[in-house]
Amino acid sequence: MARALAGRLVIATHNPGKLREMRELLAPFGVEATSAGELGLPVPAETGHMFSENAAIKAHAAAKATGLPALADDSGVCVDALDGAPGLFSADWAVNKDFRPAMERVERELQRRGATTPDRRRAHFVSALVVAWPDGHEELFEGRVHGVMVWPPRGERGFGYDPMFQPDGHTLTFGEMSAKDKHGIEWSGGREKALSHRARAFVALAQACLTKPARKT
Ligand code: IMP
Repeated sequence: MARALAGRLVIATHNPGKLREMRELLAPFGVEATSAGELGLPVPAETGHMFSENAAIKAHAAAKATGLPALADDSGVCVDALDGAPGLFSADWAVNKDFRPAMERVERELQRRGATTPDRRRAHFVSALVVAWPDGHEELFEGRVHGVMVWPPRGERGFGYDPMFQPDGHTLTFGEMSAKDKHGIEWSGGREKALSHRARAFVALAQACLTKPARKT
């Protein structure tokens, strides 16, 4: 059985976009969350070869540094026609944290491969969420969402590659959607509905480690 999570928690991220989403996801559970960025913790080197390994590195580093349970997300967008790139290196394709050049690079690479139709531009976001405790215990949850990379990017909302990603079954990109539509969760007693990779991973985390939400999102 998974270990329960209650009380105080550190969100092991320095990324304000992720922090905002993770706080919103945790909001119904009465968990008091601070962040690695706010505490001035160093950014650990992400030396893993999988999203789950990097999430574990970040979560264990924050749990060890603070003596509190820590929640880390490692995520990225994997484009089929680019053999899964940028994938683990999604953050590294940005220039000074600006994702416009990163999206331009994705587009350039897709054009170079002649990937101009939606079926050749398929991609998915992955989120690995790890909760680590100071005694070394950890729990891992993963979520994915599939869609296509559009050009030009659309929308000013969200962060990272959101304006370029249009999830299957939707006409808006993540950059055009409200926060509620992108990562809101419909809590419905075992048949939860969530769209984003992070929200889907979070549903699994909540079902395993958190007590039932006090109210619906
Ligand atoms: P890391 O997990 O800190 O290595 O960074 C993951 C990177 O993937 C982020 O900086 C974003 O560029 C991208 N990414 C992850 N999740 C999302 C999302 O929900 N929307 C847009 N970009 C994302």
